[in-house]
Order: sequence, then C-alpha cells, then structure tokens
Amino acid sequence: MTVEQYRELEASSRGCCDICGATARGRSLSVDHCHETGRVRGLLCHHCNTAIGLFREDPALIAESLVYLVGVSGAFDVLVDAARRRDITFRETAVAR
Ligand SMILES: [Zn+2]
Repeated sequence: MTVEQYRELEASSRGCCDICGATARGRSLSVDHCHETGRVRGLLCHHCNTAIGLFREDPALIAESLVYLVGVSGAFDVLVDAARRRDITFRETAVAR
C-alpha cells in the first residue's frame, strides 16, 4: 500500500478506527486486511486489530462472544445501537431452546 492509498483510506474513515471509532492519537491506524486474499478491509486501532486477531478473525467466534457478553450484561440496547450506526436491521425471530 502506498502512502497515498493509506491517506485515502484514512480520509474515508475520518482518521478513526472502523470498529470503535477511536482516533490514532499519534500512532498510525493498522491496515486491516484479509490474510487469505490480501483485500484491505479498513483501518483499526491497535486494540481492535489485536482483538480480532485473538479471535482468529472468526466472525462466528466473535458473534458468540458478543451474544455471551450481551447475555451476561443485559446490554441488548448496545447491540441495537451499534447495528443502527451501520444501517443493519434485525428481524424479530423466535429462538428455540
Ligand atoms: Zn478500535
């Protein structure tokens, strides 16, 4: 990635982490990319980049962790608010146990 490409990516994310919205605060944001295809996915702060790596970039594992945390904290509104910010909507469905 060239410096110009990084600057374009940085401008499109307004200099903030694509997950948590934190600014780099004197450090460069990490270029997040797919390790299989090399496709650049966005810019992440050190914490978020490390976190998704620790979850082995496995969306299913991250989703299970999210459901766990929402379940133990009861903070369903946090999940709904995050989805709204990304224009994601949920359908109400019954979950069989
Ligand atoms: Zn972050």
